Amino acid sequence: MRISNRKRVLVTGGAGFLGSHLCERLLTEGCDVLCVDNFYSGTKDNIAHLLGNPHFEMLRHDVTFPLYVEVDEIYNLACPASPVHYQRDPVQTTKTSVHGAINMLGLAKRTGAKILQASTSEVYGDPQVHPQTEDYWGHVNTTGIRSCYDEGKRCAETLFFDYHRQHALQIKVVRIFNTYGPRMHPNDGRVVSNFIVQALRGEDITIYGDGAQTRSFCYVDDLIEGFVRMMASPAEVTGPINMGNPVEFTIRELAEKVLRMVGGTSQLVLKPLPQDDPRQRQPDITLARTTLDWAPQVQLEAGLSRTIDYFRRLVQA
Ligand code: NAD
Ligand code: UDP
Ligand code: UDP
Repeated sequence: MRISNRKRVLVTGGAGFLGSHLCERLLTEGCDVLCVDNFYSGTKDNIAHLLGNPHFEMLRHDVTFPLYVEVDEIYNLACPASPVHYQRDPVQTTKTSVHGAINMLGLAKRTGAKILQASTSEVYGDPQVHPQTEDYWGHVNTTGIRSCYDEGKRCAETLFFDYHRQHALQIKVVRIFNTYGPRMHPNDGRVVSNFIVQALRGEDITIYGDGAQTRSFCYVDDLIEGFVRMMASPAEVTGPINMGNPVEFTIRELAEKVLRMVGGTSQLVLKPLPQDDPRQRQPDITLARTTLDWAPQVQLEAGLSRTIDYFRRLVQA
């Protein structure tokens, strides 16, 4: 018999950028949080402030290996998210997505836990449909340098839906579009962190290609709100569901905005565009709006301002 009626929640990848914000949010909601991470791209610094909380527990573990714990809900976030990180050990990236999903689904099957998968807009690849709706099947290279991430995440989605059909698991699949905020890794090569750190250090701001490619940027707090709503949604809501900010910017516009906000003397310089870099990306979030009554609330300037404050402290430290 259970003595406590606190919800026991497992967050894999909990020491990463999104995971650490999610752990924090779940603790404020009175959950008992187990954070599992192998520190491949996350850090103890991201969760150091939570370690004194008696309802928070940290386990160093690689999700490609089985894990036996008793939980009520699982948020499966473990996987490096930035191209620099996931391309460093591409075989491990696929293993994390695929073997990690199998193990977490096996855990959910045994315990009866609800399980949410952090999928990605990368399942759409370099999309030929714009903006992307959930019923678009994508345009993905199977052999390129991004494939380990894209195909790993696609296979994980397949596994989620097969466990749902075959074993009646309660699944929730969220396709996350570019998200930014405090605790992004300063060296992970993602565009928002790169531009802010470059501007703060007075270094050149590196635009890849001509900067005409687009992305839409969601502030982390908005995304975490979406995760929590998705987990609480009725059983028939399985996703996949897009989550991101539909306001689209070119990369050049982002560079100019960051430079204006940080100030300083940095120059915008053009660098070669990486292979398979998507030209356009913008979520259609109609489904999230109608099913979860969810939409991003934080405008880019407000979110950038909080992120710049975080990196300013980090760069000065
Ligand atoms: P992140 O790299 O900061 O966090 C990922 C975490 O997973 C890290 O703490 C890392 O150490 C951990 N991890 C990696 N491999 C692991 C393994 N085998 N076992 C245990 N832990 C492991 O990235 P993030 O931005 O916080 O992304 C979190 C999740 O959201 C990822 O699954 C990512 O694919 C997805 N996502 C993020 C974005 C975004 O814009 N941030 C967009 C789409 C999808
Ligand atoms: N698994 C796990 N924790 C559990 C239950 C299962 O890590 O609490 C792993 C287990 O190692 C297995 C995988 O999840 O490899 C898939 O489990 P499932 O029951 O679907 O498959 P099976 O064990 O029948 O191969
Ligand atoms: N990018 C850039 N300069 C940088 C880092 C990234 O111009 O210093 C571009 C990159 O080529 C891509 C976009 O910004 O077109 C977003 O890159 P990021 O790695 O953040 O995310 P993703 O490509 O996964 O959307």
